[in-house]
Amino acid sequence: MSGNYLLRNATTTNGEVRDVVIESGLVVGKAATGMGHEEIDCKGLVVLPGFVDLHTHLREPGFEQSETVASGSRSAAAGGYTAIHAMANTFPVADTAGVVEQIARLGEDAGLVFVQPIGAVTVGLKGEQLAELGAMAQSKARVRMFSDDGNCVHDPALMRRALEYVKAFGGVVAQHAQEPRLTVNAQMNEGPLATKLGLGGWPKVAEEAIIARDLMITELTSSRLHVCHVSTAGSVELIRQAKARGINVSAEVTPHHLLLTEDLASGYDPLYKVNPPLRTTADVEALREGLIDGTIDVIATDHAPHPKESKDTDWASAAFGMVGLETAYSVAQQVLIDSGKSNFERLGAVMSSNAAAISGLDQQGKYLSPGVAANLTLVDPKDSWDPKPQTLSMSENNPFTGLKMQGRVRHTIYNGEFSYRDFSIVQRVGI
Ligand SMILES: [Zn+2]
Repeated sequence: MSGNYLLRNATTTNGEVRDVVIESGLVVGKAATGMGHEEIDCKGLVVLPGFVDLHTHLREPGFEQSETVASGSRSAAAGGYTAIHAMANTFPVADTAGVVEQIARLGEDAGLVFVQPIGAVTVGLKGEQLAELGAMAQSKARVRMFSDDGNCVHDPALMRRALEYVKAFGGVVAQHAQEPRLTVNAQMNEGPLATKLGLGGWPKVAEEAIIARDLMITELTSSRLHVCHVSTAGSVELIRQAKARGINVSAEVTPHHLLLTEDLASGYDPLYKVNPPLRTTADVEALREGLIDGTIDVIATDHAPHPKESKDTDWASAAFGMVGLETAYSVAQQVLIDSGKSNFERLGAVMSSNAAAISGLDQQGKYLSPGVAANLTLVDPKDSWDPKPQTLSMSENNPFTGLKMQGRVRHTIYNGEFSYRDFSIVQRVGI
């Protein structure tokens, strides 16, 4: 049973200050009398569509010492998310209807955020034979997005077949663009700093060559491609040109690639080791520009929890990846709002509605029209805070620790109920 709420004096994305009414899980135009609405003072808070993450590693099944669907859901709710997409590189791999349904069920049990499984493109992420894409699409988990993330679908014939296959049900292939032959022993961005540090270089062309190829195959098949974690200026330019030519492509950028650079590798702290690697200031600027001008559609976290022992080691042996669900909003605000270069409408699009559209989630990414499911996030743009390494995630590999951040999620409302309220998780009883 859902409650009734009256969010007093919230600021909308176009700057209007108004009350938002929620009744039985839905946004409604006007409060009905005698419904006993609980009033919440939202003065100074901006109300946004609940955030949707297209790229979350939840680690369950198989790697529950790093994260579970439940702990990742708590971290997501605290970050303002009402929907997350669970990447397929679990153990077993999410390459069958059975595994994707299991993950969806674990998400329902946790009850804090909508967990949409992503299906693997190839069996076991091995890049050899197509997984049962149709069975996953028809399963109760209703998978529309497929990815071998962590691995690149590097065989062009297989990529072509996957793109052809997903057209039947309006699906999309999300590519982790990394030419494996160009990244053997790669550890960080290729360039003078990698040479100086004695770490294997990761050339930009390893990403760009795959994106260029996939754009051509997408055009050939008239299918739909999503490019994961774009990290270079050249990739942004390729996607910009492809969109201008009418190729059906969308792209994501991570919070860390929008804020951090390869210079952080200088201290050999594996906290900053990530795939694709942190790049140069010029790349960061191009990514920001692409996000603002619409070339890049979404900010996706690539939240990648790892246990302490995988990060408390030397650079070369450490795992790739960083967590990011709880800090993504603050990075988005810094890049889009505090920079003076964009606005809250664009922020709502890149954090929510564009992602919902790419993945076909019709209960998400909607805004304040009467009758839509109340999936909303309320943020305080003036709140400054210091992210801590220990978060609601089970892992502490947080590269934003020690940075002063501005703008913070205050409340998250999932299907009409608070999942996160005044900086605390609200665990619903009986779910
Ligand atoms: Zn990836």
